[in-house]
Amino acid sequence: MTTAAERVRVAGVEVSPDHFIGGERVASPRRFEDISPITNEPIAEVSRAGEAEVDAAVRAARDAFPGWAALGPAGRAPYLHRLADLIDANVERLAAVECMDMAMLLRSLRARVIRRGARNYRAYADLAASYEERDWRSQGTWNRVQRMPAGPAAIITPWNAPFMLSTWKTAPALAAGCTVVLKPAEWSPLSCSLLADLVAEAGFPPGVFNVVQGIGEEAGAALVAHPLLRRVSFTGSPETGRSIGVAAAKNLVPFTAELGGKGPLIVFEDADLDAAARRAAGQYDDAGQVCLAGTRLLVQESVAEEFLELFHRYADEHVLGDPRSEHTTVSPLIHPDHLRRVEGFVERARREGHRVLRGGRRSPAGPLFYQPTLIEPLSNDAEIVQREVFGPVLTLQTFADEEEAVSLANSTEYGLSGIVYTSSMGRADRVGRAVRAGVVWVNTFLVRDLTAPFGGMGISGIGREGGDYALDFYSDLKTLQILE
Ligand code: NAD
Repeated sequence: MTTAAERVRVAGVEVSPDHFIGGERVASPRRFEDISPITNEPIAEVSRAGEAEVDAAVRAARDAFPGWAALGPAGRAPYLHRLADLIDANVERLAAVECMDMAMLLRSLRARVIRRGARNYRAYADLAASYEERDWRSQGTWNRVQRMPAGPAAIITPWNAPFMLSTWKTAPALAAGCTVVLKPAEWSPLSCSLLADLVAEAGFPPGVFNVVQGIGEEAGAALVAHPLLRRVSFTGSPETGRSIGVAAAKNLVPFTAELGGKGPLIVFEDADLDAAARRAAGQYDDAGQVCLAGTRLLVQESVAEEFLELFHRYADEHVLGDPRSEHTTVSPLIHPDHLRRVEGFVERARREGHRVLRGGRRSPAGPLFYQPTLIEPLSNDAEIVQREVFGPVLTLQTFADEEEAVSLANSTEYGLSGIVYTSSMGRADRVGRAVRAGVVWVNTFLVRDLTAPFGGMGISGIGREGGDYALDFYSDLKTLQILE
């Protein structure tokens, strides 16, 4: 470990490529290369943590914990509010860096995504501060349930919405009184480094919020195995979730995991077909790199032809291009390895004889673009139906009736999200209840109430985040009983 390296300029913004440990910038002699998906060219040489840096970060979080916990929710809230205000004041810088690093559309980042980070900190500051301990009398004793901050928490996030997901996880942890060590994904590490600058500017005590940069199998694995941690919170793929779960189990540390999805988008014959088709074509947004996307289009036979015509019309309107342009609607994929992965899924589907109805090739729009693709599978057990692609690839299947729709919807191992289009409230309720997923949207998509539970069923996750569910996760609930 060495101290502070030069900042790099990314999209005109100065960003530290180093860790943030105990309130200081700390560099590693080893680095890894971060590329921009827009150009497929390197934009930073980022510090690559090994066990020593991870250990230093966890110890900093452990040392800062008693003081942070002792502040209580009301004492911590002003820090979180200051951080939220700083995020709002830095939307342009954060959006510019995130766009360059991950290629999410700049206009979405400016309008919604970055501000959602600020909302996360405000919402959890207020929610934790408004929590009332539960008191009651029973069997001659006076009882009280108390939330005790759990301790230092490891937070590991994926590359597809690095800033928003890091705030979504660190906000409840910090509000509940935990200190955190955040490890962002190695394909998009920079916005979390800017977040650490804002944490420092907001005056958080050193060690409350730490960032270690590095490779998952190295820095990530060392972090989740660290015996001083009291919580592990992960968002990423089911495969990594399994190995992190094993590490957490070895230390008997509570673990929450938000994992992949393969959501159904079900269109009934009584639906507003135009709205449903527009929504279906909208699943190509962010190049389909959205865990909650409805990637399996399930359409009632009687309206399938009409739906498909409308779908193609909306899909034709997509513009693949530079995510900084106002006109672009579909951005490039994150990394050459990911492009090859997406391509591999489509090639295997083609070889197995499934019909490619649109797209199915790389796009000349740039080095990392893949065409928005629609595949009609020969059978429901095809890999392209059963496995998450995490790219601009949808499948189209038809069903005869409600029963078949639900059966197809529930036929994968995932269970993160579902989307239903129908004009019948009765059907919305029946199908909404029957679809096995952590969240089901009817005639809408991605509307989020931060107090609602969020998480997946099956291989889409363990545990729930959101509102009090997250605050409970980052707390040890304690019962006190006093004889009256
Ligand atoms: P990933 O599992 O490859 O990596 C996620 C994070 O884990 C990264 O920071 C990585 O460095 C780290 N990591 C990798 N191996 C590790 C190990 N052995 N020990 C500790 N950490 C390790 O996932 P990804 O490719 O970055 O993200 C895409 C996946 O995330 C998709 O499956 C997507 O659906 C899912 N996702 C889920 C949600 C949700 O809310 N459920 C949200 C976004 C993304």
